[in-house]
Amino acid sequence: MKKPRIPTETDKPDWIETFRGRPTTLSGLTGKANDAACRTLQQYVNQFEGTKNLQDLAIICGPAGSGKTILAQIYVSTMGEDILDLPASAYVKWCMTCNAKKYDASNYHELWKKIKEFIEIPIDSKTVSVPFKVIVVDDADSISATHQNSMKALMDKNSLKLKWIFTAREPRKFIQYLQTKAVMVNCRAAPEKEALLVVLGMCYRFKIGYERLGIKALFELVAATNKGNVNLTDIVRMVQKCFLARQYISEDNVYVTVGKSRPKVVVSAYASIEPFPRCKICTLYPPCQHRTTEMLVQQAYSRRAELPERKGGLECREFLRTGACSIFNKHGHCSLDHPTRKVRVEKPETRCPICTIKWPCNHCTYSSVRNELLDARLDILRRLELLETLTQEEPPVYLITHLVDKYDDWEETLKGIKKFYVTAEKQGIMSEIERWVNYEYSTDMDEYRFKLQRLTRGFGELLITPLLLEQGASRSGTRGESRQKSAGAGAGAGAGRNDIDEGASVGSSNRGRSKVLAGGGGADDVGSIGSVGTLTTTQGAGIDTSSRGRKK
Ligand SMILES: [Zn+2]
Ligand SMILES: [Zn+2]
Ligand SMILES: [Zn+2]
Repeated sequence: MKKPRIPTETDKPDWIETFRGRPTTLSGLTGKANDAACRTLQQYVNQFEGTKNLQDLAIICGPAGSGKTILAQIYVSTMGEDILDLPASAYVKWCMTCNAKKYDASNYHELWKKIKEFIEIPIDSKTVSVPFKVIVVDDADSISATHQNSMKALMDKNSLKLKWIFTAREPRKFIQYLQTKAVMVNCRAAPEKEALLVVLGMCYRFKIGYERLGIKALFELVAATNKGNVNLTDIVRMVQKCFLARQYISEDNVYVTVGKSRPKVVVSAYASIEPFPRCKICTLYPPCQHRTTEMLVQQAYSRRAELPERKGGLECREFLRTGACSIFNKHGHCSLDHPTRKVRVEKPETRCPICTIKWPCNHCTYSSVRNELLDARLDILRRLELLETLTQEEPPVYLITHLVDKYDDWEETLKGIKKFYVTAEKQGIMSEIERWVNYEYSTDMDEYRFKLQRLTRGFGELLITPLLLEQGASRSGTRGESRQKSAGAGAGAGAGRNDIDEGASVGSSNRGRSKVLAGGGGADDVGSIGSVGTLTTTQGAGIDTSSRGRKK
């Protein structure tokens, strides 16, 4: 960026809602993620040009921030401005956009009123050569089923006068009628690379100053709130917010703008003495018989305490990046500041007390009953989640259809279950067991059995009712999610399940990790396996995987 500028009044209106700087033609989009969607829409445009007619309803669907709204806008403006050649004043009378998210059960009537008024304005047949108008409803899937029915009435009554375009994240949430009636156009979230091009292109065009780390922080923050996905809407909003507030997209500015503190660098427990040389006695890289993990951690701890802190002085970059200062390690002094508070030290790795493989070892006898306990816990969490969804005011249609068919009193039953099982006492049982399984590192099978019993007794009906059996696709989603949660908590259910062989090469896995991601000693260090595997205990590696399936 040669000459970044500072923001002005014109930068203040929401860039998303005003479509600032967005492409205006279907072929002008950056990246390939939505190529298929663009082709489909182009086809419709061509048909429109030829027949001067349009399908009654088109639903553009895709994840948040994947470009649905902008595609809908390009689509109608291509038809209105390019083909019908409407001047701006006539175009706004021909096409209306509204956002369903701005309404809820209490004020949908206002939306209907707005739509009716829009239909009633007569079309000036001199300027508009088609007998219908177009309405774009953003986030139409947020309209509840009951109200979708009123919409259906509106649609039926005016099918000649009005054509509809919806954008939606979850097309499954539409009532059957709408799903059958609509042509569906699918959007995909841009891969990170393409999203990056979009954002950088925007910075260039608007002369917004940025640094690489700032953009990286933007993407990370947005991914964190979007289950790891790229959401361009959120990213653009954040660029605008940061630009308006701090004028420049730097890492610090981004964190200040969103009101979060910059994440600390996480380093391994013995980072401050790394890299350590081979053991003089056995010639292996520690930890070995002679320099155990405990000794290393202890040494690292005292080394960290020795590093000089000089408040206000120049900070030692190496220390902030890796948790070690090689100058100090070599000469015993370094004139820079080593602010230990800015580096987070990971908890030392836990190992199975029996076989010394990284915890959870999935190898010793107690593992199967431990996994059973973890599964029961997951099962309960999943069922509680489903219970929550099903007992809300208007549960998603696709989740209840099979219940409505089979059970007359499903609603009452579920409410009863909720009353009995969603209590502080049950919550207490869960969190106690969670703490125990994550931090006690027990190898006592009886204790696991006891906890398992406690769980199954405590959540009896919740666990057996067929009303809470998950349907198809939603299941894998929730399962993966709860897995991640528990993995984050330390020694979680999913962690270490597939890396038994890696874990077997005792202790070597932690060495040479250049960047350790936050989230506890998870299974993320696959690949940094040392060649030192003295203890390559791989037999029995497959033991537990079979018992993982739910016993249903
Ligand atoms: Zn040794
Ligand atoms: Zn230093
Ligand atoms: Zn073990």
